[in-house]
Amino acid sequence: MGERRGPGAPERRHGAPRHDHQDCIAEALSRADAVCRARSANLTEIRRRVLELVWSGHAPIGAYEILDALRRDGISAQPPTVYRALEFLLAQGLVHRIESRNAFIGCAQPDERHSSQFLICRDCGTVQELSDRRIGAAVSAGARDVGFEVGRSTVEVEGRCMDCSTHAG
Ligand SMILES: [Zn+2]
Ligand SMILES: [Zn+2]
Ligand SMILES: [Zn+2]
Repeated sequence: MGERRGPGAPERRHGAPRHDHQDCIAEALSRADAVCRARSANLTEIRRRVLELVWSGHAPIGAYEILDALRRDGISAQPPTVYRALEFLLAQGLVHRIESRNAFIGCAQPDERHSSQFLICRDCGTVQELSDRRIGAAVSAGARDVGFEVGRSTVEVEGRCMDCSTHAG
């Protein structure tokens, strides 16, 4: 995906475009195996493959892109197969839905419940996840003030990532 790090390139933190993304994928899959084993949740082959596809980059991927990729694998999947796999992965906290893109990204901390804020780069499309408790707490406090009971809370912020601002002319 054009993300392989060349020899001698500096190590970058997760979410940054220039890093060895194969490590991200390998870590995500082994974390998923561990989390599902601990919860006795059945990470079937198709669910695992869908998770791997979601992790194919740091930009969100849509259900139909996943379907196309599965078909390229020679798996004759139908949309419900993909949606069921995504439901499972969402329920286990292994992926998040990016509402504004109607697409999915992998979560690097599926073992802890967290409310998330997503920083979406409008140039390269990558998403960085924050789980800043102060923001979650501020949303809860503001909602409480107006008597609103918070269910699910997602904050999506659009802008430009560090890499794109650095390389912008
Ligand atoms: Zn990566
Ligand atoms: Zn997360
Ligand atoms: Zn960017």
